[in-house]
Amino acid sequence: MENSIQQIKNQFYAQLSAITSTKHLEELRLQFLGKKGILQDLMQQLRTASSEERPRLGRLVNDLKEECQRELEQALEKLVLSEEGARLAAEKMDVTLPGRKHFQGREHPVAFMREQILAIFRDLGFSVQLGPDIDSDYYVFEGLGYPADHPARDMQDTYYVSPSMLLRSHTTNIQLRVMEASNPPIRVVCPGTVYRNETISSRAHVFFHQIDGIYIDKDVAFTDLFATLKEFVRRLFGRDVPCRFRPSYFPFTEPSLEVDMECTACLGSGCRLCKHSGWLEWTGAGMVHPEVLKNGGLDPEVYSGFAWGLGVERLTMLRYGISDIRHLFENDMRLLSQIS
Ligand SMILES: [Zn+2]
Repeated sequence: MENSIQQIKNQFYAQLSAITSTKHLEELRLQFLGKKGILQDLMQQLRTASSEERPRLGRLVNDLKEECQRELEQALEKLVLSEEGARLAAEKMDVTLPGRKHFQGREHPVAFMREQILAIFRDLGFSVQLGPDIDSDYYVFEGLGYPADHPARDMQDTYYVSPSMLLRSHTTNIQLRVMEASNPPIRVVCPGTVYRNETISSRAHVFFHQIDGIYIDKDVAFTDLFATLKEFVRRLFGRDVPCRFRPSYFPFTEPSLEVDMECTACLGSGCRLCKHSGWLEWTGAGMVHPEVLKNGGLDPEVYSGFAWGLGVERLTMLRYGISDIRHLFENDMRLLSQIS
């Protein structure tokens, strides 16, 4: 019996020395000290020993049991510490690594340009006036002097939602509302989305953004129109940009003009952007037609005014050298993030 006690002790130490985890240590504990463990077996065997031998052998078994318990506790303490160390090492954070770059949103170039344009006109004394996207034929066409057979009223160009209501094809629909609601001097700019039933191409889209402006007071002259638009371009581009005024036709202005600026890409020497003319058209303008003043409740013998309408996308393209309007709406961050 003494021999088998010594063998069990040797076996215990041999197995203990090979343990590397708390899980295996617990298995070892159950194997030796569990209710059906090896030492419990030894206790059973004590019954077969003689009554003279039993107390001495009993002490030996108890000593071994206590020794095993002590060794297991010490081993557990060491393993817990080393496992904790390994876990911390695995979770270690290198605070010197560079941070991950987060995506940062920004204004869309068209919204950015619209705000720039409005800010310039605010500084020049204009206030901002909004109007409805869906409007009556009167405010979009009839009240502005569009004859019934004018091409712009054609179903192909305009989205009608009913025979008399339509998606506005220009922000000029705000002009008459402003005249009806206020007395001169009137100085407003009217930004908004406009809709046209066009084939989408590099130069045209089914919706885009316009800013109309109108200035009405006593003795407003053609020269005020020139001065205002030239000052606007100077502020937008940060330098004096030569402008050219050409006769044109709009039903709601008389006389009417198209306004060009010197090509921003070639500075007038001719390039693909300006089709080798050296000039880029950027707005239509003119003196408010007397009939439109009358429709707005103003006496054309007393008041005069000028108006213009410009495309925000067009100016964005001219300002940043973008050749295709579709690029502005494809949400390609590689392009959009370059502009602002
Ligand atoms: Zn050019």
